[in-house]
Amino acid sequence: MTTDKYLEPFLTVKDSGIHGKGLFSTIDIPEGSKIFVIKGEAISEEECIKRETDGNVYIFWNDYNYIDTSMTDKIKYINHNCDCNCDVLENNEESLLLSAYRDIKAGEELTIDYGYEEIYELCKCSICA
Ligand SMILES: [Zn+2]
Repeated sequence: MTTDKYLEPFLTVKDSGIHGKGLFSTIDIPEGSKIFVIKGEAISEEECIKRETDGNVYIFWNDYNYIDTSMTDKIKYINHNCDCNCDVLENNEESLLLSAYRDIKAGEELTIDYGYEEIYELCKCSICA
């Protein structure tokens, strides 16, 4: 039997120096590790636009579907950093895979590159600052 949770039990949500709450690892994670499968509600483009207009910022795109993660308890807290330590990879039509882009130390906040224009204007990371 396979599990999609991989290292999810070792992740925790707490206050972040980047923005609001963030997702943190409690263990060392080697580069390339599968961290966990990002799942949510698969929605249409029309529904995505509607929800984003209503302030939902937790929607991922996987080349097939828009995946709304606002009802999840962990992935929705992952913050943006241009110098991110995680990567979002293809998985299947209804999910994505979060993996370690580089070695991550216990206690480190997990970050991804959100990859849309506006985020770089708001970003306060060491590259943008
Ligand atoms: Zn930045």
